[in-house]
Amino acid sequence: MALSDVREKPAARPEAARRLEQVKDKVAACIQCGTCSASCPNAEFMDMTPRRMWRALLAGRVETVFLSQTFILCASCYMCTLRCPRGLPLTWAMAGLKQAAFSLYPDRFRRSALFYRAFMDNIRQYGRVREMEMMTRYFLALKHPLVPLGYTSMGIRLMAKHKLHLRLPSAGPGRLAPLFDRAGRQEG
Ligand code: SF4
Ligand code: SF4
Repeated sequence: MALSDVREKPAARPEAARRLEQVKDKVAACIQCGTCSASCPNAEFMDMTPRRMWRALLAGRVETVFLSQTFILCASCYMCTLRCPRGLPLTWAMAGLKQAAFSLYPDRFRRSALFYRAFMDNIRQYGRVREMEMMTRYFLALKHPLVPLGYTSMGIRLMAKHKLHLRLPSAGPGRLAPLFDRAGRQEG
């Protein structure tokens, strides 16, 4: 995606612009200590460390943030939130950036949005992830026959180590469904 494609878009989508402002407010007290970057288990895979990303956001360089993969690679482990000396809700802020990105740039972030949807639906249904079923649903939603091929060797390795299990889909206990509904209403 070109830089020009990400400029001005937030203002064109009031809801996403409002979410971005909320995120900026929440991280405004960042002192750039770097604890979040040092604590993040996914930092080595990110093209920009969390600390640098917060700095870019607070400096108004929204396009830099949305051109990065940093917030997409956040695994919501809460490590940075627990360790930030300013007590900033960083995991919440990462999720806010994902929501804004999915809304502003649906084509660019389509794969990530579909992956999250498949993951959350699985959790809602079973209370945990059934990897094989989740990935099958993700691939079906993606409607791209070549994508599953890229996961074949990893899938075979995981099956050989008994990390993946073939199970028939079921309705699942659905015990988390009321919790999901409540959270959805609160997010409004
Ligand atoms: S840990 Fe908190 S204060 Fe330190 S750089 Fe990260 S967000 Fe900023
Ligand atoms: S919540 Fe996200 S950004 Fe924070 S440490 Fe975990 S993976 Fe990294």
